[in-house]
Amino acid sequence: MYTILDGKETAAARRQKLAEQTRVMLESGQPAPGLAVILVGEDPASSVYVRNKCRACEEIGFLSRTYQLPCDTSERDLLALITTLNRDESIDGILVQLPLPPSIRQTAVIEAIAPEKDVDAFHPENLGLLFQGTPRFKPCTPAGILALLDRYHIPLCGKHCVVVGRSNIVGKPLSQLLLARDATVTVCHSKTEDLPSFTRQADLLISAVGKAGLITQNMIKEGAVVVDVGMNRNESGKLCGDVTFESVAPHCSFITPVPGGVGPMTIAMLMENTMAAASQRRLAR
Ligand code: NDP
Repeated sequence: MYTILDGKETAAARRQKLAEQTRVMLESGQPAPGLAVILVGEDPASSVYVRNKCRACEEIGFLSRTYQLPCDTSERDLLALITTLNRDESIDGILVQLPLPPSIRQTAVIEAIAPEKDVDAFHPENLGLLFQGTPRFKPCTPAGILALLDRYHIPLCGKHCVVVGRSNIVGKPLSQLLLARDATVTVCHSKTEDLPSFTRQADLLISAVGKAGLITQNMIKEGAVVVDVGMNRNESGKLCGDVTFESVAPHCSFITPVPGGVGPMTIAMLMENTMAAASQRRLAR
């Protein structure tokens, strides 16, 4: 029998704690932490993510500001807005929703965000700190996965963790966080030969690819922990992960659902990073 790693409930508890911390801040006369979210264009999935992030801010009591810019916004105008927000004392965290239109260089935008307000932790300075083992902020999705595993007391030390996907926002930073927890980490990607031979060795298998049906029952070691980061739409338009849940789950000890697994944890960690940014900036003053 397997246990569901319930991201929805775990994230709600963490948001509740943040709401209490915010209330204490306000009562002591300090302003609430502030998060600015910038969305360029009208990608439907990105719009949903931005709405969910703003809703979480409001529920916790953070100041939330959303900038919805047209898809023909120039890189110069976007960089100017980031510069203004970098200087804005009421804003502690700045998030630019990715992907950006092809006319805007993603690296230039990420590098323009002040590292101490980079609550997504994508800035090279913050990635460098993460790789040194002294992160200022932990990238939200990888940090959310670890927080969820910790909530269920799943050991990582000495375990073989296989991460499928090597993106800068999930696979690569996740492998660093797992190494920092003394796991043995294998990272697979689109050029990996014989993927099942790796996934079958995993005590903890994390799939962050974005392909429905990629991870099937024959790719799982009996009793493994399986975390599904993928967010895909199946033929009927329903949200699903990379893992074929019905056939895989009976062979796992723990498994995340999609939706209700990693997604809510990502947003909770963004809120925690915003709270941390506010606290760090106030201490530095
Ligand atoms: P990317 O497209 O940036 O990266 C996908 C990775 O998967 C790449 O490293 C790619 O390899 C690898 N890959 C592609 N095909 C295969 C294959 N057949 N076998 C093995 N590896 C393969 O995606 P992201 O990391 O941004 O996102 C991954 C998924 O996670 C998406 O579904 C996204 O929507 C979801 N996501 C969910 C979040 C959440 O909060 N739940 C947050 C962020 C993402 P290569 O490098 O060789 O191209």
